[in-house]
Amino acid sequence: MNTSTAERPTLEKVVPGRTIDLRSDTVTRPTPAMRAAMAAAEVGDDVYGEDPTVAKLEARAAALFEREAAVFVPSGTMGNQIAIRVHTQPGQEVICEAHAHILEWEMATMASFSGCLPRAIDGNHGVLTWAQVRAAIAPKLYYRAQTGLIALENTHNMAGGTVAPPDVLKEIWAGAKDAGIPLHLDGARIFNAAVSLGVGVVELTRGFDTVMFCLSKGLCAPVGSMLVGTRQHMERARTVRKALGGGMRQAGVLAAAGLVALETMTSRLAEDHANARLLAEGLAEMRGVEIDLATVQSNIVRFRLKDGKSAPGLASRLKERDVLVGATGPDTVRLVTHHDVDRPACLQALENIAEALRQL
Ligand SMILES: *Cc1c(COP(=O)(O)O)cnc(C)c1O
Repeated sequence: MNTSTAERPTLEKVVPGRTIDLRSDTVTRPTPAMRAAMAAAEVGDDVYGEDPTVAKLEARAAALFEREAAVFVPSGTMGNQIAIRVHTQPGQEVICEAHAHILEWEMATMASFSGCLPRAIDGNHGVLTWAQVRAAIAPKLYYRAQTGLIALENTHNMAGGTVAPPDVLKEIWAGAKDAGIPLHLDGARIFNAAVSLGVGVVELTRGFDTVMFCLSKGLCAPVGSMLVGTRQHMERARTVRKALGGGMRQAGVLAAAGLVALETMTSRLAEDHANARLLAEGLAEMRGVEIDLATVQSNIVRFRLKDGKSAPGLASRLKERDVLVGATGPDTVRLVTHHDVDRPACLQALENIAEALRQL
């Protein structure tokens, strides 16, 4: 059996101000205001519950989502996996979308840490309906693994940043409540969903028992995500976080950036969405590109190359031109817009893509 570690990516040479990095919104660097807040942050040992800045961030996140409590976690993955552990028992199933982040990008942690199996169902561009979820709930038979949790994702990363609207969510909230099954939201980019729909985050999250969202993506904080929910769930989450090695000490230096992220970075996401649209519309006009403009609803653009053109080939040609994109398959590419790529940079990237495509 080969148990060796898989390939590790090599260090990218990213030149701030020159490299147009469209691989992900996780590449955003902390803003000068964040750096200043980090330097000035009041700190203490957060495992002892003594970091005032972490406490402030948790209170702010809870208030924004109209919840009793919140827990600051090192990553979105840890936030999701803590929630799964909090809601489930070993031997249960977790209903999720077939290309959910918790299934595709979080190793097999729901199995190895929580002892659960995914019950994966295909959504319409990542969006699940109550009818689909209901059909996937295990019948109440003693000889069938029971459904322990329903986990949704909004925006849906693999589907191209698609957004689940409130009416679809409300049906699922009501149905899950009737069925007595807890609901978790992987809301890594919930602020993108809210901005895209022109609604508040509460309107999109009210019916979930727990919500995870990332500070470290479009909101530009260097590290960290939040889990919000009831006081009881968050007390349990704190214990599980420690079990995973996620107890942090003077984490106030990170929380300080998170506070700046929440106060100043959510409303500007509309800019990223406009830039994604600009990229998508430009791509739609290029020969050899297949793109479904209807799926471009937030800051993610996914497209396919036709005529046997290779996505890794395109990515490496673009890299020579200081443009970084994600080759997500042999012929599929992902672009993500964010704070550190402005409109001129997106126009430049489009030019480079057109040129590279002609040479492929
Ligand atoms: C990025 C992301 C996460 C969490 O990612 P981390 O890198 O662990 O912070 C979770 N869900 C979705 C949908 C994501 O895009």
